[in-house]
Amino acid sequence: MASTLIGKQAVVIGAGMAGLTAAGAIADRFEHVVVLERDTLPSEPTHRAGTPQARHVHALLLSGQRALGELFPGFEQDLARAGAVPLRAGLDVRVERPGYDPFPQRDLGWSGYAASRPTIERTVRRRVEGHANITLRQRCQVKEVLVSPDGTMVTGVRCVNDDGTSETMAADLVVDASGRGALTLALLRSIRRPLPEETTIGIDLHYATCIFAIPDDASTDWKGVMTFGEAPQDSRGGLMLPLEGNRWMVTVGHRGDVLPGDTEGFLAFAQSLRKPTIYNAIRHTKCLDGVARYGFPESVRRHFERLDGFPRGLLPIGDAICRFNPVYGQGMSVAALEACLLKQLLDRPGQVGDPIAGLAPAFFSEMQALIETPWSVATLDFAFPGTRGQRPADFDITLKFGMALNRLAAEDPAVHRLTIEVQHLLKPRSVYRDPNLMQRVFAKMAAA
Ligand SMILES: Cc1cc2nc3c(=O)[nH]c(=O)nc-3n(C[C@H](O)[C@H](O)[C@H](O)COP(=O)(O)OP(=O)(O)OC[C@H]3O[C@@H](n4cnc5c(N)ncnc54)[C@H](O)[C@@H]3O)c2cc1C
Repeated sequence: MASTLIGKQAVVIGAGMAGLTAAGAIADRFEHVVVLERDTLPSEPTHRAGTPQARHVHALLLSGQRALGELFPGFEQDLARAGAVPLRAGLDVRVERPGYDPFPQRDLGWSGYAASRPTIERTVRRRVEGHANITLRQRCQVKEVLVSPDGTMVTGVRCVNDDGTSETMAADLVVDASGRGALTLALLRSIRRPLPEETTIGIDLHYATCIFAIPDDASTDWKGVMTFGEAPQDSRGGLMLPLEGNRWMVTVGHRGDVLPGDTEGFLAFAQSLRKPTIYNAIRHTKCLDGVARYGFPESVRRHFERLDGFPRGLLPIGDAICRFNPVYGQGMSVAALEACLLKQLLDRPGQVGDPIAGLAPAFFSEMQALIETPWSVATLDFAFPGTRGQRPADFDITLKFGMALNRLAAEDPAVHRLTIEVQHLLKPRSVYRDPNLMQRVFAKMAAA
């Protein structure tokens, strides 16, 4: 074990999903890993200030579930023990999209889980706490990333503890999993290095979420419901998933004004969705926890891969690199997949020279393949007018191709399975370029 170490101490900024998974990924390669989190970390699966998005539906994709199982063997069993509700892919969630109300429900052969974000995060956190060489320090806010006088090498962080004392912590590697990545950008500015270019897709999405007790007479035909509006005129949608504790979490959203913050307003919005299934399920049941709201202005992709000479020993990860429209449920899974990539890079045999120096460039380069599919999913937002950003040149063809692919998936279980594999990031979108499949999709397009 000792011979595989590449450094004495690594510091991870932030104990969200990206920070926890990154800590698990690097733990074998450092004598000690310290995760610094500004929040108080609750022992129960409850909300905390630093992750306000956790009050809204957090779907865990099958790829994310597998990645978490790879990083923390036994994770899925832990999640089930924590009360997560098993969901059969393709079968248990009723999907209502224009033209298919519902889309054919079929058992595609895998099980996922639905649980609240605090439960998912706490399950991962317990695993991280079980690592002998990882320390989780709460109520500790990182103020800056420290760098050598010539600006080439990160040396640690300066943080402020709960009692207001300031502390310097040395590190061979600093992983910025703070969500916003502001400390990474501040460091690049301070050493007069260019900031990464950004691609943004402006969507001005507003979310509202309520938790309901599942009534005794709830439908047995489905465990959850997903309702889409009809693009381009109707951006309203809703997602209702079961949670631990016999509850439903219902998130509704649209591109437009802030949604109402009271239960009556929430129900009225649910009633205005294209299909009434969600409203009918909740209208006579009890809202347990008030209405939480969230505004999401844009998806952002930072192109760290285009920078030359990134400081040695610094690695942004998770939302600090790429934030996706939450409707597609990709962020936690991408964070876990990035952590798996980080582990693979560190475990790769035949490394020569300074493995920490080569880490960030290799990570930025290899994660492009990982991000390509979720980012291309996020570009589907251009189906709605008013979307800001660079509309892909062939976007109309992409939309028509997608609609024809859906028609084929509705008829053919094998194609349905393939589309679910892509949606869950188990396969890249490039599988749609299979010549045989393309021929069938083009035939559908011609028929339309
Ligand atoms: C409304 C909404 C709904 C979403 N729904 C889904 C979904 O259905 N499925 C899904 O997979 N993803 C979803 N996401 C995305 C998901 O929440 C994130 O992508 C994912 O959690 C990874 O985030 P992260 O760990 O990089 O950052 P965060 O979750 O933001 O965590 C950052 C952590 O760093 C801490 N921190 C920040 N600054 C400092 C500092 N200076 N010092 C110490 N600590 C600091 C914060 O307190 C926080 O704990 C959703 C996002 C939003 C906004």
